[in-house]
Amino acid sequence: MNEHRLSMRLERVAAQVPAGARLADIGSDHGYLPVALMRRGAIAAAVAGEVALTPFHAAVRTVRDNDLQQHISVRLASGLAAIEPEDRITAISLCGMGGETIRDILDSGKARLSGHERLILQPNGGEQPLRQWLMDNDYRILDEQVLKENRFFYEIIVAERSGPVSYSAEELYFGPLQMRVRSPAFLAKWQRLLRQKQKTLNSFTQARQAVPEDKMQEIAQQIQWITALLV
Ligand code: SAM
Repeated sequence: MNEHRLSMRLERVAAQVPAGARLADIGSDHGYLPVALMRRGAIAAAVAGEVALTPFHAAVRTVRDNDLQQHISVRLASGLAAIEPEDRITAISLCGMGGETIRDILDSGKARLSGHERLILQPNGGEQPLRQWLMDNDYRILDEQVLKENRFFYEIIVAERSGPVSYSAEELYFGPLQMRVRSPAFLAKWQRLLRQKQKTLNSFTQARQAVPEDKMQEIAQQIQWITALLV
């Protein structure tokens, strides 16, 4: 993958960025996503935020190699601290991090959100707590996808602030839109997770040392939900 050829995962994210957006890509690593979008003329401007020095320098290099310094600002900052009001950001992407990390970045950076930005989130696990944060903060999920690339399943969640929204516990767990669409990748992901959770529950049951009762119940509940989903 590079700025000329994105992974399928980042291509799916790119497709969710509105044409002409002013994008903040937080946790940008090499800066491939904003640079690829800018090269295609798909966005108006971008900020690439990075908390770590090595990826920050990599992003600076990608932007410089493509002569895009006038259009993409690379900033060394944690989370949404990379964004300034003058940037007039209209879309924020947070990709390739755990769902809890993305949630924490959004939560601690709330003051920097105008509420008009589209959020394009690609969590690696932890989707449930991330959806919980979106619901608690009045964000409606507009699009959700599951895709499989190199044996891994990835989720993409697109949300915008809309006013109060309510999702059930199962919707927060599986994704309210994915539950309805039931794409082949979504069903394959949950078939794999069901096998894993059944194995975990069996090993807990056989374990000599006691596993906390609430942990056992949580997994049993999840197995019940997944089994019902896949019927
Ligand atoms: N977004 C790219 C992608 O999806 O291919 C890179 C993903 S990489 C696995 C995660 C990046 O997020 C790392 O470069 C890491 O330094 C950065 N990161 C983690 N926490 C961050 C934070 N609080 N603020 C900014 N960047 C962060």
